[in-house]
Amino acid sequence: MPHSEQDDDCAIKPILLVKSGGETALPEWRELFGTYAPFLDVRSWDDISVDPEHVKYALVWQPEPGRLASYPNLRLVLSSAAGVDHITTDPTWPKHLPLLRASTDESAQRMGEYVCLAALALLKDLPRLVKQQTAKDWQPFETVRSAPETQVGILGLGKLGLRCASMLMALGFQVSSWSRSAKRVDGVRSYTGEEGLRTMLLSSHIVVCLLPSTPETAGMLNRDTLALLPEGAGLINVARGSHVVRDDMMAALDSARLSGAVLDVFEQEPLPPDDALWRHPRVLVTPHIASIASRRARVEFFCRQIAAHRENRPLEGVFDISRGY
Ligand code: NAP
Repeated sequence: MPHSEQDDDCAIKPILLVKSGGETALPEWRELFGTYAPFLDVRSWDDISVDPEHVKYALVWQPEPGRLASYPNLRLVLSSAAGVDHITTDPTWPKHLPLLRASTDESAQRMGEYVCLAALALLKDLPRLVKQQTAKDWQPFETVRSAPETQVGILGLGKLGLRCASMLMALGFQVSSWSRSAKRVDGVRSYTGEEGLRTMLLSSHIVVCLLPSTPETAGMLNRDTLALLPEGAGLINVARGSHVVRDDMMAALDSARLSGAVLDVFEQEPLPPDDALWRHPRVLVTPHIASIASRRARVEFFCRQIAAHRENRPLEGVFDISRGY
């Protein structure tokens, strides 16, 4: 239930507990929240002097199971990451409260930059160029196609997918998308449902995964779906490792059915040193950095949401428990 400003006991500042980035990050969080929401008392998650009754907000990364449920007057749960699985795996998380994802404009911009970089890397065969440079091997080769002849299919046209679509189109790529609900976006062909997925994959020279991690989306890039892509297509996974059936992707890479992959997310993170993906000649691996929002952008976003909640206005970035994202 939303609360109005009058609900606060004026003598005591509402407490925001922070568990993100460890103790060393606390001074920065404090300074930033002090700028955007000076009415908050920002405290460390481990501060034993905090009265649980006065905790109104919690900004968390991997809170210990049961802790969030122990604050009787909590109003909002703020996930310091874009995903919320690090909170919802706690069966006692307070489901009656809004759970907000760090869904900033900066995250969308940074994801757009990464996906453009990855799409161009696949277009120019950057894995091969890196290998050639390492071997001091001067071997000119021609690029198979340019951006305007390249169809990029984006799985998931949410906040991040939408920004990627417009940035890719600005580079000249042709863009299509697949989402749960149909979209009307200038220049983007929108597909939905099983048949829509099939149609989109059949014409995607590059496929970008930007789906949330839900039971429906788990393992959806598998032998059958990868087989629909044109021969020599490229894959960019910036969503979650669980979306890809790893053995099927490896087989497609080994057979060159997939000509390349840019992978930022993995079933096991950090990717173990002995994992074959590190050394695969057609693969670029990055350590889950496609889009990390700055603390400033996250604080600015969450302070806007706290203000909206206090004034009973609609919130952005709310996790929808029934949809699972
Ligand atoms: P979002 O706004 O919630 O968008 C999700 C999109 O996926 C929506 O278009 C949604 O369709 C679609 N979708 C969900 N379930 C579907 C299904 N079963 N079938 C078809 N489409 C489905 O999410 P976002 O903010 O763009 O973020 C996307 C993902 O990026 C996150 O879940 C996270 O895993 C990942 N991420 C990665 C990084 C990184 O650094 N690598 C950083 C941030 C986020 P509707 O539009 O119809 O609802």
